[in-house]
Amino acid sequence: MQNNWTKEELKAAVIAYIEMRTKSLNGESFKKKQYYEDLSHRFGRTIKSYEYRMQNISYVYSLMGRDWLKGLRPAKNVGTRVASEIEEIIKEIENQALSEPVSFQAEVDKLVHKKLQDKPKAVLEPKRYDIAITKYDRDPQIVAWVLMNAKGICECCNKEAPFVKDDGVPFLEVHHLRRLADDGSDSITNAIAICPNCHRELHYGQNKDILLTTIYSQVSRLIRE
Ligand SMILES: [Zn+2]
Ligand SMILES: [Zn+2]
Repeated sequence: MQNNWTKEELKAAVIAYIEMRTKSLNGESFKKKQYYEDLSHRFGRTIKSYEYRMQNISYVYSLMGRDWLKGLRPAKNVGTRVASEIEEIIKEIENQALSEPVSFQAEVDKLVHKKLQDKPKAVLEPKRYDIAITKYDRDPQIVAWVLMNAKGICECCNKEAPFVKDDGVPFLEVHHLRRLADDGSDSITNAIAICPNCHRELHYGQNKDILLTTIYSQVSRLIRE
């Protein structure tokens, strides 16, 4: 059996992944195999095992609602502990706090595939934590413009907003097509107003790439970043 991954090795793998992912997002060329070979020389595992680890990292990205690196389909079978470690390292490198703890979602995924157990007990006093977060300073004018421009129609599925808020404004959410965390701009050419279903699908759906292409072709003000 292979030895457990040290923090150092895991970190090296995540750094390689982020570098490849950034290059891919920026349309630069690179060879995945070269990265695996470098890791293999450094830490002694097979190229295949690094490729597999990269797919685990894709899985963590997918839990975070972020795009994973093309060609590396998310592979779920990573322990909850390693998944959190990967999340921590990504967080450390990208220097940002993440909305949903990956360990939580990984645990839910695991349980959903098991047989239904007894009804879980209520947690009457959930534990509280104080956490430090990094937020992007989104310009409210951009959000307001995009919302008003949509006139209550989802710019993805073209259906009406699911409900009207108590202030009389149709409820839509603003989504940045290239995430701010991926160096996307905060601008009306990179943001759309969409319904909550479409929003979730753009983050988590298996057809999100197709959806994205449709959006770019139907909303003329958008510019692909
Ligand atoms: Zn929609
Ligand atoms: Zn979004």
